[in-house]
Amino acid sequence: MTLDDAVLMPVTSLKGVGAKTGEALQSLGIYSIYDLLFYFPYRYDELETLPLDQLNDGQKVMLKGIVATTPYQNYFGYRKSRVSFKLRIDHDIIMVNFFNQPWLSKQLEVGQEVAIYGKYDLRKQSLSAYKLVAAKNADNGMAPIYSVNRHIKQKKLQGLIDQAIAECLPGVGNAVPDEIRQKYRLLTDCDLVMAMHHPKNPDEARAGRRSAVFREFFLFQMQMAQLSSSNKKQIGHAKKYDLGEVAALTKSLPFELSADQKKVINEIFADMFIDKQMQRLLQGDVGSGKTVVAVFAIYGAITAGYQAALMVPTEILANQHFRKISEMLEPFGVRCALLTGSTKAMERREIYKELADGMINVVIGTHALIQDKVIFKKLGLVIIDEQHRFGVAQRLALINKGDHPDILAMTATPIPRSLALTVYGETDLSEIRHLPAGRKPIISAWKTSDQMDDVYRLMREQLAQGFQIYAVTPLITESESMDLENAEALCQRLTHDFPDQRVVLLHGKMASADKDEIMTRFSEGEIDILVTTSVIEVGVDVANANLMIIFDADRFGLSQLHQLRGRIGRGQTQSYCLFVADPKTEAGKKRMQIVAETRDGFKLAEEDLKMRGEGDLFGKAQSGLPEFKMGSVVSDYPVMVAAREVAQEIVAKDPELKADQLADLKHVLEYNKLVQARS
Ligand code: ADP
Ligand code: MG
Repeated sequence: MTLDDAVLMPVTSLKGVGAKTGEALQSLGIYSIYDLLFYFPYRYDELETLPLDQLNDGQKVMLKGIVATTPYQNYFGYRKSRVSFKLRIDHDIIMVNFFNQPWLSKQLEVGQEVAIYGKYDLRKQSLSAYKLVAAKNADNGMAPIYSVNRHIKQKKLQGLIDQAIAECLPGVGNAVPDEIRQKYRLLTDCDLVMAMHHPKNPDEARAGRRSAVFREFFLFQMQMAQLSSSNKKQIGHAKKYDLGEVAALTKSLPFELSADQKKVINEIFADMFIDKQMQRLLQGDVGSGKTVVAVFAIYGAITAGYQAALMVPTEILANQHFRKISEMLEPFGVRCALLTGSTKAMERREIYKELADGMINVVIGTHALIQDKVIFKKLGLVIIDEQHRFGVAQRLALINKGDHPDILAMTATPIPRSLALTVYGETDLSEIRHLPAGRKPIISAWKTSDQMDDVYRLMREQLAQGFQIYAVTPLITESESMDLENAEALCQRLTHDFPDQRVVLLHGKMASADKDEIMTRFSEGEIDILVTTSVIEVGVDVANANLMIIFDADRFGLSQLHQLRGRIGRGQTQSYCLFVADPKTEAGKKRMQIVAETRDGFKLAEEDLKMRGEGDLFGKAQSGLPEFKMGSVVSDYPVMVAAREVAQEIVAKDPELKADQLADLKHVLEYNKLVQARS
């Protein structure tokens, strides 16, 4: 089926649609018949067919029956009309009144089987009807509801859409090429339009929506892909990494790489192998094993004769990464260095020198890496962990220390910035969706402060088994000193309540060396209860710590709570996270329930978004996200990813969209350009 130009004509080319209706439709952004067909309902009235004796007064229903009397039409008031007739439903008779749809009297005849939507009046045994459906189309109870405004009424719009469907539907063509549609099991545009406007059942409505979201994202990503293919060809250096060495690294790991990790490593290596600069964003929930992936990228680059740099936002994290990466790579003769704000001057000078002459293969550090004095001999790979913590300029400062080095950004919070990146198409995307096998899901619960006995009981149980505990307090106020007081108070209280345990406070205001020392002691098991502010938010990894208590949890965002919780559940033992909070509002209670029940970081981010509103989450500076009619960039994120892949493939193969099977797509994209130009 091909797209028919007639469908792209103005709505006024529909029979009976004049200039006035045309203007009304324009106020909804509907110019052409095509626009009208793709103007989808925002919800459905899901109406059930119920036996009459089960209906309540005023209930909205769909009733099926047989027209029992000739419809009688009368006018009253100024241009008001009513069509009335009796409807037989099994052995009952009710009265049906349609208001202001005089033409119905001609469409109805005695003996006809019909389905009617309306509001039931129990006392009068009558139905205030608003929609008539042929009985054969009426096994459903789903009445489309469109978003309208004061220029046009719901019923009018519904009628126009149905008219457009009746007259023009086959001409909509297929924007999504057959092959892709089949691959993702999507509906044809005809079926999609029908499923959206007149779904037979909720499943069909869902299928329609699914296809509509894909289609919308796909068309968007096609534009992006066309843009970027015409704009830039990133040059870079092909890295002929040593497969044998990489395989040896795989064997040396104490665990098997997860399927997702393997997939992502392959994606990265494929990028590195060609002479185009890699720009890839790796997203994975906390604890999903991104660091290991980074190690492979680093080692690959090194075996190809390049240096690598890994930049992270905090010293604690830098230290931890340094320890882990050295442990994994030093056996292979890799020289690793750690460079942070607290690296001593002498050592620092030594590192500068060895980076410049290529002695050091990989440097791990904080912002200290972007100092002018840091010069690489041959920087081929830049990895930025928790990349949303860095500004664009900071990232560039590191990247520019190499000659078009490959870039791998990593994040555990897919929102907000990475999302923007995805929808703006500046980067390729890799995802680790599943945690490594063998992880026991963290058991989470929300406790109120009346339930501290429960909390303490669990703490004692875990401590008795030799496990360690994080006790976290949030940044409650603007004032850091108040937060500190809060953390100190908690530390004192726990010290008092757990006299046999080693309770230590770690907070953001401490000197880095002190922080590191405490973290090292904690990871070596010399501290039982670590009281912290949200310093430990990112990346810290102590497998023996399997209980986290988050106090005043309602003061954190859901995503942040999830990040914090990600610090535990990393070993083979069962982990627990308790959220202690006394939220006052219903919304606050709901949030605590959600975070206790939901383990999926993407979902929590979405909930955060729902509660706070998109503008708030993205911040003013990032509010430039494109708006979508059908899909949500957040909750339909995987669809966006798929649409992007597909679009890039198409454009890579056929940038001008010359292939026959892309004719409709090309046509629709051109049409969309016009659409965008007029609004
Ligand atoms: P992330 O950076 O994504 O939060 P990490 O890379 O720090 O996660 O990994 C979390 C923990 O899981 C680490 O202790 C790591 O050694 C371990 N790990 C990573 N990959 C696997 C795997 N495939 N199987 C088992 N454990 C793994
Ligand atoms: Mg990490």
